[in-house]
Amino acid sequence: MTGAYPIITHTYDAVVVGAGGSGLRATMGLAEAGLKTACITKVFPTRSHTVAAQGGIAASLGNMGPDSWQWHMYDTVKGSDWLGDQDAIEYMVREAPAAVYELEHFGVPFSRTEEGKIYQRAFGGMTTEFGEGPPAQRTCAAADRTGHAMLHGLYQQSLKYDSDFYIEYFAIDLIMEKGECRGVIAMNMEDGSIHAFRSQSVVLATGGYGRAYFSCTSAHTCTGDGGGMALRAGIGLQDLEFVQFHPTGIYGAGVLITEGARGEGGILINSEGERFMERYAPSAKDLASRDVVSRSISNEIREGRGVGPEGDHMFLHLDHLDPAILAERLPGISESAKVFAGVDVTKEPIPIIPTVHYNMGGIPTNYHGEVINPTKKDPDAVVPGLFAVGEAACVSVHGANRLGSNSLIDLVVFGRATAHRIAETSKAGATQAPLPKGYEEMAIGRLDAARHANGSTSTADMRLKMQKTMQNNCAVFRTEEVLAEGVKLIDDVASGFDDLKTNDRSLVWNSDLIETLELQNLIGQAVLTMHGAAARKESRGAHMHEDYPDRDDNNWMKHTVGWFDGKKVTLGERPVHEYTLTKEVEYIKPKARVY
Ligand SMILES: Cc1cc2nc3c(=O)[nH]c(=O)nc-3n(C[C@H](O)[C@H](O)[C@H](O)COP(=O)(O)OP(=O)(O)OC[C@H]3O[C@@H](n4cnc5c(N)ncnc54)[C@H](O)[C@@H]3O)c2cc1C
Repeated sequence: MTGAYPIITHTYDAVVVGAGGSGLRATMGLAEAGLKTACITKVFPTRSHTVAAQGGIAASLGNMGPDSWQWHMYDTVKGSDWLGDQDAIEYMVREAPAAVYELEHFGVPFSRTEEGKIYQRAFGGMTTEFGEGPPAQRTCAAADRTGHAMLHGLYQQSLKYDSDFYIEYFAIDLIMEKGECRGVIAMNMEDGSIHAFRSQSVVLATGGYGRAYFSCTSAHTCTGDGGGMALRAGIGLQDLEFVQFHPTGIYGAGVLITEGARGEGGILINSEGERFMERYAPSAKDLASRDVVSRSISNEIREGRGVGPEGDHMFLHLDHLDPAILAERLPGISESAKVFAGVDVTKEPIPIIPTVHYNMGGIPTNYHGEVINPTKKDPDAVVPGLFAVGEAACVSVHGANRLGSNSLIDLVVFGRATAHRIAETSKAGATQAPLPKGYEEMAIGRLDAARHANGSTSTADMRLKMQKTMQNNCAVFRTEEVLAEGVKLIDDVASGFDDLKTNDRSLVWNSDLIETLELQNLIGQAVLTMHGAAARKESRGAHMHEDYPDRDDNNWMKHTVGWFDGKKVTLGERPVHEYTLTKEVEYIKPKARVY
């Protein structure tokens, strides 16, 4: 059967899968270091989901008032509900200012202050004086189109160096040999040709898996393909039960209204006209961290104070703000509100609802981007040749909950760190052993089976079943009963793969085939998200378990790691790094949650 798919082979020093912010930063750094580098991407680079990032990128530049990386570190650790690895967090916040200046020099058109410095806005959970001082203005912004500006700057830089782009190629599976990564197999979606990339290192920069849920802010392409590839290679995924809901997705459409809207003074109001966040988070109010605001909104709705005919959403008001400021600082979301909710933000409130926004979990890595597959003997065991960055990875700097604007900085800081690590540990043009015999069987077997699938359930129907199950049974509020039911339902969806039916048998732009491969990637992560959530008997960060409302550091201060072989789930754990990177800061000990 594999003979039916002739393979074109390529040899590179480094291959990056993904051209979002993290993939492009890694690609650029690798090519700059003189390594022969390929970047494979299923969409044109500037269409990657990073393009949609609105609010901004966090770094303690201190342009709007006093700030320090130590304060940024404290906020990130606290935001993570103490599940983040503090060595990695220290690394990120220390490198953040240099990474932003680097973007500035790459030509990213940041908004400016009167004196011409990079403009910074307030974002939830970002404070001064270790949480004791006023909110920090730490989030650097290019109006409300920061990701767009960043992605264009990074793509231009990647082109400046000598890297090869394989655009609209779909990576199917990793090539593994004895636990080591040797390359990756991809299909050119335009003509169906199969390409094997032999490489000293492979970097997975494939983004999140938001599309496992019915309502999410992420693009249709966010299908967790890197996580799927890792699982099939026998690598466990970490902390998937922590799924961030953004408090303000446009009701009915899922499209995001940036937290920057509240950073500029927007407020949430319930059906009684009350600014209810004052009750839940007296000091941070509407800018409390995302899990708090999402839960507060859900609670208001459950207690009958939602707005609209069904009382099932909430209002975000910007109409009390100066229209000139809205036009200057929030032009994109003003347009989104018009297009997706028919609302003029200068006059009316925007209807919003908490919507899946970010996956804190992913492929475990250390702060060099090296993928970890923990064993009993070594919880930090590295998978040689394999790296992961961006939302696909779990470093873990976000722990149980990510602070707004900390993802964009994660992308560039760890994209750069990964490129450095690979440059340090590989040699340009080094001879590589031939690929192992039968290396193509898994990828092509899967492709062929999906292409000729002839059961009775369409990919779209099965995907919808998965998405509804995740939305209903693994959302903001979780209970023992709801999660136990969810485990049964999602296992049932996963077992239906043998009965899948595809209609298009061609190899040219076969979206039926690609969506089937994507669904296979999503389902493993959906299953592990549900099982991980059902297993974690505490509440921490985004995982709010009504039957266990408290954080339980005695039993649960640990990362979940889950393996899935297509049928069986195995859950394990990894210790949280309870140490920092340098002696300049001490480990920040867990504190009770006060909002
Ligand atoms: C609407 C929205 C707004 C946001 N706003 C902010 C913000 O203001 N600040 C902030 O810090 N964070 C924000 N985030 C989060 C942040 O933007 C994302 O976490 C981040 O952009 C992810 O970047 P990435 O490089 O990991 O992947 P992505 O940008 O998602 O890119 C993934 C890449 O992988 C490629 N790929 C995937 N699978 C395959 C495959 N099988 N074969 C080949 N290529 C593949 C894709 O083509 C793409 O190039 C926002 C997220 C959303 C959804």
